[in-house]
Order: sequence, then C-alpha cells, then structure tokens
Amino acid sequence: MTLPTTDTTVTYPDGATTSAGTVLHVEALPGGRSAVLLDTTAFHPVDTAWPDQPADRGTLTTPSTGTQAVVEAVTGGIADGRLLLGADLPVRTGTDGWVFVVAHILEGDVPTVGEEARIDVDPDLRRELSAGHTACHLAALALDAALAPAWTKEPPVDALGNPAFDALAIQRSRIEPLGSIDTYRIGKSLRRKGFSPDGLADLAAVADAVNARLAQWLDGGGAVSVERSDSALSARRTWVCELDDGRTDIPCGGTHVRDLAEIGAITCSLTRSQVDGGVEVVMRTVVTPA
Ligand SMILES: [Zn+2]
Repeated sequence: MTLPTTDTTVTYPDGATTSAGTVLHVEALPGGRSAVLLDTTAFHPVDTAWPDQPADRGTLTTPSTGTQAVVEAVTGGIADGRLLLGADLPVRTGTDGWVFVVAHILEGDVPTVGEEARIDVDPDLRRELSAGHTACHLAALALDAALAPAWTKEPPVDALGNPAFDALAIQRSRIEPLGSIDTYRIGKSLRRKGFSPDGLADLAAVADAVNARLAQWLDGGGAVSVERSDSALSARRTWVCELDDGRTDIPCGGTHVRDLAEIGAITCSLTRSQVDGGVEVVMRTVVTPA
C-alpha cells in the first residue's frame, strides 16, 4: 500500500470539530488495531515531542464500517517508505525530509482506501481542552510578568517584553479539560541566565500577582486565534491573543477558545518541591467557564 506523500490537512486549529475526508492508507497494528490516515481531519492528535494537549475524543464514519470510536490519535511520520507512530517517531513534527500525518487508531473493522471518511469530535471535551490551553498560555505570560523583578541579567523576553521565565524553565506542560499543569525547573542553568530563586520565596504572593494579572486581562477581553501559513499538520502555528497590554504570540500546535469572553475566570496555584539538581515549581491552572 502506498503511503501519503504530503502532510495531513488539519482543520482543528480553526476550531473545526467535524470534517469530511478520504481514507489514504490503513496500517495494521499489533493487538487488532489499525492506524487510518486521511487526507483531511478535524481530529487533534497528541504530539510526540511536546505532548501538551491530549488527543480529541470522537468517531470515524465510513460507508463500509459505519461509525467507530477513534481509540487514540497520534502523530505519525513517514520517511524511507515507513510509517512511524507516536513514541516510535524519532523526530520533532516539522523535521525536514519527513511527511507528518494524523493517525486515527481504530479497533475492529477496517475501512478501505479511497472511501469517504467523516470525523466527529466530541465538542464538549474539545471546548474544555481549548479553554485549558488558552488559560495555560495566559498563565505563563502572567507568571513571566510576576517574576520579572527576580532577574538580574537580561534574558530573552516573551511577547509582552518580560523575561521569558516560562520558555526558559518549562519542563513539562499538560493541558486538561478546563485547566493545565505546568512544571518548571529552577536549577543551575536558569540561575546562570540571571534568575534569582529568591523571586519564588513567597509562592503565595507570586500566585496572587499572577491571578491579579489574569483577572485584569480577562476584564479587558480580547480575540484569540491560531495563525498559520498553511493547513499542513507540520506548518508552523502561532497562538495570538489581543490583550490590553499588547498582542501576544506563542508557537502552539493545539486548540484554543476564540475569545477571552468564553472564560469566566482563571485561577493559578503554585507548589514547590526539591528535586535532583534544584527545585521544581508546579503551576496548576483552573478555568471557570463564562
Ligand atoms: Zn500551546
């Protein structure tokens, strides 16, 4: 069977939760599963290298198999005539020389190449993940602002001109329905860049500053969008939010609300723990829908 020679066209960055496409390839997997590749999909897969937003939940419908649950959706890469999925994919999405695809994992009946395939994503879960992802980015910017006084050198800055603590210290980011959990490492390399850990001595005060900033931003409102040069899975995408403080942008492969008016409140809390080689700070962000 021939593998696709171009990336999957993805419509979820614009907010789509349904799509109509064509089955391009079906690959048998161990355990009675199969990976189905379509030309176009609204199904957000989990990214391999930076798995922040989990996959959507939803179904795939074809004339021959009817409606089936998509049990998993992962990013696949094609090179040298081979399809590598999820954890087996050794490169970041966008690496030259690879074709990147959304792999819809099914159990049971297998659709036929060339069939029409409809995707229906659970819109409620998507909405909650989108709100969690937008809040995650806003909280990161608010944390950068709150920690700005803790820098003694001039490190790279974020879109609002504050030292980019989030970008420099982030270890792990997980988007949840209506929230996120971000893990930061404060070790030698961050201190060498000029960050003074004293800035995190009073975590409750930092959280208060973050939450005050978030409330102010939500008060001011603003449109949210994902900008991209084209609709290929590996195209570079940027989260853009029109805040009172300015236009922010963050590279992002996920989904988002369309306007801050969809979010009622965002509340962050911070905790600290000692780990090998430094301190880990975890920011837990919770969204109250509007
Ligand atoms: Zn993002």
